[in-house]
Amino acid sequence: MTLSDRSCGLLLVISSPSGAGKTTLARRLAGEFALRFSVSYTTREARKDEVQGKDYHFVSRSRFAQMVEGREFAEWAVVHGNQYGTSIATVNTSLADGVDCLFDVDYQGGRQLRRLWPAQTVLCFILPPSMEELERRLRQRATDASDAIERRLAMAHEELTHYGEYDYLVVNDNLDQSYAKLRAIYVAAGCTRVRNDALAQALLREAGSRTPLQKP
Ligand code: ADP
Ligand code: 5GP
Repeated sequence: MTLSDRSCGLLLVISSPSGAGKTTLARRLAGEFALRFSVSYTTREARKDEVQGKDYHFVSRSRFAQMVEGREFAEWAVVHGNQYGTSIATVNTSLADGVDCLFDVDYQGGRQLRRLWPAQTVLCFILPPSMEELERRLRQRATDASDAIERRLAMAHEELTHYGEYDYLVVNDNLDQSYAKLRAIYVAAGCTRVRNDALAQALLREAGSRTPLQKP
């Protein structure tokens, strides 16, 4: 085991109103760093470009209910009329491995993860530059039916009311600049004292056990 193996894993939660760009930003972060992406379970239908097991584990309502019953979720919630849940095994394995984990979940999920793992959880909320731009992005993404887009826009207000529960707010206007901000948040979160305490303690012990230099 090296000293750097002793740092503890971070749980980075990214939430936003649908269409603000959290999936785009989260994927980019996971592409640059050795972050584990928590693949949620959902009862939603897969969109045309989504891959089973990569974007989501798409399951039936009865399978989801079984998983709730079997206490397999760290958290789960109903969002836009569908059920979504985070596997407790994914979180526990990441923490045990000391690997950072990324979550694309709504405010209910973020709240519950913070409740369960307060020291490890960092909450980041992505804001759209305007409601007009949010609607434009939802429509140009063209992955949801028109009534689903209306539902998502209507839900944006409720989601925005929870921004105060988050540690960081990033306005996703220019994508490269927004990504640079998210990246900075992630890198800084990995440098907090709490996150590196075990490492600092190990160094302290090693330093203390060294034979003192002989005075001339
Ligand atoms: P969310 O996961 O929050 O629902 P997505 O990441 O799917 O949002 O982004 C919604 C749409 O907006 C996608 O088509 C995406 O390519 C686009 N998008 C994301 N960020 C930006 C940005 N900064 N500027 C313009 N379009 C963006
Ligand atoms: P979408 O259907 O656009 O992929 O996601 C809809 C919403 O569900 C988004 O706000 C997304 O963050 C949220 N979501 C996805 N997975 C989970 C999850 O496991 N738990 C919770 N609470 N929300 C989730």
